[in-house]
Amino acid sequence: MRALVIDDSSTTRMILRRMLGEIGFDDISDATNGQEGLDSLIAGPTPEVVLVDWNMPVMDGYEFVKAVRAKPEYDNTPLMLVTTETELDRIVAALEAGANEYVMKPFTRDVIEEKLALLGLESH
Ligand SMILES: [Mg+2]
Repeated sequence: MRALVIDDSSTTRMILRRMLGEIGFDDISDATNGQEGLDSLIAGPTPEVVLVDWNMPVMDGYEFVKAVRAKPEYDNTPLMLVTTETELDRIVAALEAGANEYVMKPFTRDVIEEKLALLGLESH
């Protein structure tokens, strides 16, 4: 299974890569901001899921979600927002823009696994 992790924090990228590896993803790419993530997505191959941070320089998670959802070829690619933001309006905005799920930082592997299962991505 293939995943793309987009976060400006190298620590968060490392933690997510490790957790996704434990869950069963064997091809994990990462990017440090939404623009880099978008470039990676377009370069392919298309991941089974994209985990994207909210607060990032250059292009934030919200702009990333909107940019991806403007491209019909990624209609079936689940986008999971990983964020510290607790304001309900931000989550609603992200879901309305086309994010499929969200996870609050700090998160555990169990939470990530549970949310992936909701997206139909079962661990091995
Ligand atoms: Mg960030």
